Amino acid sequence: MDQDLATIVRETATEMALAPVRGRVADYIPELAKLSDRHFGMVVITADGAEFAAGDADLPFSIQSISKVFALVEAMASHGEALWQRVGREPSGGAFNSIVQLEAEGGKPRNPFINPGAIAVTDLITDGDDPRAGAGRILRLLRQLSGNGGIAMDGAVAYSEAATGHRNAALAHFMKAHKVLSGNVEATLSAYFHQCAIAMSCRDLARAGRFLMNDGVDPASGQRVVSAEQARRINALMLTCGHYDASGDFAFSVGLPAKSGVGGGILASVPGRASIAVWSPGLSPQGNSLLGTRALERLASATGWSVFNPNR
Ligand code: GLU
Repeated sequence: MDQDLATIVRETATEMALAPVRGRVADYIPELAKLSDRHFGMVVITADGAEFAAGDADLPFSIQSISKVFALVEAMASHGEALWQRVGREPSGGAFNSIVQLEAEGGKPRNPFINPGAIAVTDLITDGDDPRAGAGRILRLLRQLSGNGGIAMDGAVAYSEAATGHRNAALAHFMKAHKVLSGNVEATLSAYFHQCAIAMSCRDLARAGRFLMNDGVDPASGQRVVSAEQARRINALMLTCGHYDASGDFAFSVGLPAKSGVGGGILASVPGRASIAVWSPGLSPQGNSLLGTRALERLASATGWSVFNPNR
């Protein structure tokens, strides 16, 4: 399989590098609009620790909403079950920044992976008025899990989003009015914009996600990140809610738990088998990496990897 996997990853990257239709780079965050849509990177790390990389595998990019997975890890650790009083576990069937549903449902966000849900989670882990505390916890976790102490927040991206993030501010204030947020709204938003602005490569990200394929234990250090049950739950949420209103389509065509970000990254896990990160900045209309999704579809089909196919 290893030889095959090396070929599959290499061929997938070559195909994606040449793809004529590449999606649209996010332009609602001005700093992200500067990215070229030519990039494609991919890293697959298998349960035995082997790494297969191709394309721009070591180029850092803005992880954006992939940070929501790690914010959830932090909130699970500090708040346990109480977390679910603030945020639900249902797919939204709507856009990542939709306001309509939040109003109809009394300010409680559907799940931790749409923007209001993630802002509510960040509010929980942002201590008092200090935005550095919340985002700093996520950054420390990512450095530790990836083994790369050099991972940093891109200040220009955080500033760019803070200056234009009026929808997120509206969502946050609306939740505050419903007492779903308990902290200082400006501090929570600042923490949220900074966690989204963390820059990592596919290699860093695939390494940071290894606990998801391994029942909650980081296989590199042997350290438990979350309980086995929590790891299953995070994977379940990634499968059902990880791609906004394209989550059903992604489960149908790829069949793996995964979380996308508008920077063009996707982190996927194959429980018991592999941790995968892909990156290509061009997005689908729903805000998910177009070629990243296609690459995962190709990989899943070539390997037979799927949560619905436990024998592979
Ligand atoms: N920082 C982005 C926002 O709040 C994250 C969205 C995403 O990556 O899907 O709009």
